[in-house]
This record gives sequence, C-alpha cells and structure tokens, in this order.
Amino acid sequence: MIRYTLQCEQAHRFEAWFENSSAYDKQAAAGFVSCPECGSVTIEKTLMAPGVPKKTPEITPGEFYNHVRAFRSKVMAETEDVGHSFPEEARKMHDGEMEHRPIRGNASPEEVKELKEDGVPIAPIPPEPPTEN
Ligand SMILES: [Zn+2]
Repeated sequence: MIRYTLQCEQAHRFEAWFENSSAYDKQAAAGFVSCPECGSVTIEKTLMAPGVPKKTPEITPGEFYNHVRAFRSKVMAETEDVGHSFPEEARKMHDGEMEHRPIRGNASPEEVKELKEDGVPIAPIPPEPPTEN
C-alpha cells in the first residue's frame, strides 16, 4: 500500500491509499479517483517532500562582503606577511623548529596540499570582495 497526497484542479488536498503507484495511475486515468470535496476527477499527485528543510538565516551579498572585509583586515593586522617563505615557516613552526607567530603568505597548490597532508594547520584567506558601487 502506498499513500499519496492528491490535489484536485481546485487545489483541494486529500490523501488516498493505493495498492501501488501503477494502481493509482490506472484508477486516476479511469476517473475512479475523485476529490471528496468537489468530486473533480482531475487529480494530480502533489510533490512529495521529505520534511521541510530548516531555513538558514539569509544574508545579503553586501553583508557577506562586509564579513569578508572585516575578516581580511583582522588577518592583515594580526599577521606578518612572510611571502613565499610561508610554506617553509609554517612547517618549521609546526615541527617546533621555529617559535609560533601569526604569519600569512603565499603557497602554491602543491605546497598547500603537502602542508595539509602533514597536518600543518593552514587556512586560505578569502579574496578581497568586489567594491560595491
Ligand atoms: Zn476538489
């Protein structure tokens, strides 16, 4: 048995049980399925949804960019730019060969991959958002 939530042409909704989906198709095509409210046989299955997804709070692009800008300026203010020695220094700090200090810098995709594989905690800095007009 299968339960369908059905809807007639006048948007009345009702539930009905069928042996299987092809039984529904046959009965509906033959006009055996009718709306209990208005008797219409123009019926269709309503879309099935597995629960209503929780709505995440919406954020406008402008707000998002502001978050990114704030994050970037914090990182820029609190870290030292070591440029291309970033992978080496990050690794040394991780290995205890160098004192920890907040740094930022450049790393190639290969270097990023190697650092991550070795468990060196690194995170990308998001790019500067476009300027709003
Ligand atoms: Zn109806």
